[in-house]
Order: sequence, then structure tokens, then C-alpha cells
Amino acid sequence: MKIEKELTHPIHPRHKLRLEYTETPYNCDGCKEAGIGYKYKCHQCAFTLHKACAIAAPRTTHPFYQKCEFKLYYHPPGKCKRVCDACRTYVHGFVYHCDSCDFDLHPCCANLPQVLDDGKRDLYLCSKLSSSCHGCGGTGLGWSYRSQCGAYNLHLSCVKEMLVESWLAVYLNVDKNRVRQMVTSIPRLKGSLQNRPVVRGSVGKYGQMAGAAARAVVSAVLGDPTAMVAAVVSGIVSK
Ligand SMILES: [Zn+2]
Ligand SMILES: [Zn+2]
Ligand SMILES: [Zn+2]
Ligand SMILES: [Zn+2]
Ligand SMILES: [Zn+2]
Repeated sequence: MKIEKELTHPIHPRHKLRLEYTETPYNCDGCKEAGIGYKYKCHQCAFTLHKACAIAAPRTTHPFYQKCEFKLYYHPPGKCKRVCDACRTYVHGFVYHCDSCDFDLHPCCANLPQVLDDGKRDLYLCSKLSSSCHGCGGTGLGWSYRSQCGAYNLHLSCVKEMLVESWLAVYLNVDKNRVRQMVTSIPRLKGSLQNRPVVRGSVGKYGQMAGAAARAVVSAVLGDPTAMVAAVVSGIVSK
């Protein structure tokens, strides 16, 4: 598929958005989730979209939900809080929603690759885990990435939680200025931090777990599976 260098988006019609690449996390003004890698950014104001959010088609399908037709909404439909069925976090903005089954997917989640290459092994996207996740120890709800050998299992939700925890750990221990700036520029993370005053001891656990696998899933979760996220997550995962 051809990638446009510039585009105009209906929710930001007055200015053009340009394709950029960044290794600093940003907040997407479409789905309101954190992102990294390729993004579309307005050069006249701070408006930014994930690539997946910027070019999201009005309708889409997904192999995990064969019977569903997903429609793109710029605001979550209905009155209830909606949860993304892939990453199990609340939906605050752009969402693919199936009217008949009530399934919801962030545009980035709907676009997650079925196979992720972490440089050492292939990780396969699956809608249900059969063996326990390295993050939570359970099989739980939501999608995950799994290696064929079964040694690596990671829920998307656990990876998102790992990001928040690791950024919090860095915030408390290492380069305070850099991370403070990062945290305040990502409202979703800021919200998460307010709800979790205690640092749990899991950062080390993830670190020992699988550096390359975790890094690959982190970049996919942040909307760009090809992004080199080493700089952002170097504090969390071992090399
Ligand atoms: Zn987005
Ligand atoms: Zn603008
Ligand atoms: Zn459906
Ligand atoms: Zn999601
Ligand atoms: Zn898990």
C-alpha cells in the first residue's frame, strides 16, 4: 500500500498532516493512546495521529471475528465505557465497533500484524492464550503474542501495563527530567500513574523474560511494529 507523505484528516480539516518518524512516545489525538514510530503530525499545531488512525478505513474486518463488520467511530458509540477487545484498555477516541456483536478494537489493535519478527523468532498474534502469560501468569482475556515454541507469551494488556510501570520506574529512579516530560505529554499514561501509586517488582521480571520479544510487542502495541523502540524501553528490557 502506498503511504502518503501528506494528508488532510476530517477531524483536523484546516491543516495538512505530514508523515514523520519519532522514537519519542507521543499521544495520538485520534485514539488517545500512546504511540511511537511513524505518525502524522500537523506542522502548525501539535495535532498528531498514529499512522493507523490517520489512514483508518471507514470499515474493516478482522480474521479473529469472521462474522463482524467493524465501523470506524471517531468517538466511542453508546453511553457505556467501552473496552478494546484486543488490548483490554478503555476506548477514549477512535474505535472500530461492530454494531451487532458489540466488539471494539482500537485502529492500531485492528492493524496488529499476525506475525511479528523480533529478530530471533516469530511471534504470532492469538486471541486466546493456551499457556500462561509472562506478565500476569494467567491466560486471561484479550489478545497476545506467542512464539511457536511456547516459551514466549505476552498479553497486549500486560505489555501496556509494563510500559506504564517501566516508565514509572524510570521516572522514580533514573532520568527524572526526561521521563517527567514524557509522562506529562502522554495523558493516558499520566492517568494510569495516578491510579497506581506503588511500583511493583515486575519490571525486573519482564527484563529477564525476553528482551527482543518484549521490544517487538511494545513497538506493535504503540502503533508501529517496525519502530526501533530500543531507546524508549532500554530501561525495561534486557538486551
Ligand atoms: Zn491512534
Ligand atoms: Zn493543526
Ligand atoms: Zn460482530
Ligand atoms: Zn486496543
Ligand atoms: Zn498477561
